Amino acid sequence: MQPGTSEEVRRILLLVAVAGLFGLSIGYLFETLFLALSAHLIWTIYQVTRLRDWIVGRMQEQAPDTDGMYGEIVDALTRAQRRDTRRQQQLRYRIKRFAMMTEALDEGLLVLDSDLLLSWWNPAAAALMGLRKEDRGAAIINLVREPAFVSFVNARSFTEPLEMPSPHRREQTLQFTGARFGEGETVLVVSDISRLRALEGLRREFVGNVSHELRTPLTVLRGYVETLEDTEPPPGMQGAYGQMAAQIDRMQALADDLVLLARLESMDYERDSTDIDLGELLAEICREADQISKGLHVITLEVEPGTFIKGSQKELYSGLSNLVFNAIRHNPEGASIEVSAASKRQEIQVAVSDDGVGIDRRFLPRLTERFFRVDSSRGRSTGGTGLGLAIVKHVLNQHNATLTIDSRLGRGSTFVCHFLRSDEPMPEQVNA
Ligand code: ADP
Repeated sequence: MQPGTSEEVRRILLLVAVAGLFGLSIGYLFETLFLALSAHLIWTIYQVTRLRDWIVGRMQEQAPDTDGMYGEIVDALTRAQRRDTRRQQQLRYRIKRFAMMTEALDEGLLVLDSDLLLSWWNPAAAALMGLRKEDRGAAIINLVREPAFVSFVNARSFTEPLEMPSPHRREQTLQFTGARFGEGETVLVVSDISRLRALEGLRREFVGNVSHELRTPLTVLRGYVETLEDTEPPPGMQGAYGQMAAQIDRMQALADDLVLLARLESMDYERDSTDIDLGELLAEICREADQISKGLHVITLEVEPGTFIKGSQKELYSGLSNLVFNAIRHNPEGASIEVSAASKRQEIQVAVSDDGVGIDRRFLPRLTERFFRVDSSRGRSTGGTGLGLAIVKHVLNQHNATLTIDSRLGRGSTFVCHFLRSDEPMPEQVNA
């Protein structure tokens, strides 16, 4: 029993004993006991009422001056109140720090509830997206109606960031990433990547322009070297003209690929889109591949009749030829190369597979990076620029298509281009 409770019991027993003795002495035992216990009950009600008034007043007033069991209740409540006040202060401090932190961020933060209603945002989000106080509680897809944004938010998978012009200032490019938390809520992070995109544009333009400018002097040099090749080289210069010509050819190929990549990446470039007969296109590529191979590889072509895709003939030729020429350049003579095109479910698949050297699986995700070569010393000797698969990736991007690569070291490689048959939505992932 708690000390306060036992004191209360002792007090009642004492009251009963004293009242009992007094009642016995005056000959009114039960009446005296009744009066004493009634007085105790009234005192108890008085204590409880004081306690209730104090609690109802949120314990702001002076605590009632009481002892025993009621004193203990007052003490326990006062302690709990102090604890609560301390916690509230800590919580307020943390909320203040969090608010200061989110206000200091350049990135915008938005919190959406499980129904995608806007419940909170920081000042950066307000500035980037033009949000006003009245927007609290509004459906985000009514505030930003861009179809890409609506599907990004509705899908709630947030595997890839979304890039789009700001709904507030069209010249600004925003990037959104998202995550789900709590009970179906969503947090969106929005950042202004206009500067980054502008710099990328400058970089692209610069590389494209420099490469383009290099073409003319290289052509002139090539012409002179060709003339020199027909003459007798000075002593000690045997083979030099041939090497010069080969290096100029390499530089020309590099400049051509860089110009092509810059064009493929450019948003402003107007693309032609015609119906392309894959049978004809792949046959032309295989004829050129035969010449490069000089008959040292076995090239077979199998195309389902009437396989057409929409796109740019020139770009598709560059992209698909890179896959076939790679199969020749990176594999030893005697290797078999199969080129095929067929409809599969919603897709048209163009596959180039070989039974050659193969590629270590750990390099597969990096193959489409610019200048990535599995074996850099061998790569250069094969005459490639290191840009082939980057070009393939960009050409496919422009055609709403994806590339998958499968390869086993020593067994060969298969590169498959997945084109959509109609205006189906894009498959989610490129597992290169
Ligand atoms: P490169 O100009 O070197 O061919 P790519 O971007 O076209 O550049 O290819 C990148 C690298 O991928 C190559 O250097 C080569 O190591 C590897 N590769 C590409 N295709 C094949 C293939 N069919 N067989 C083996 N390796 C390949």
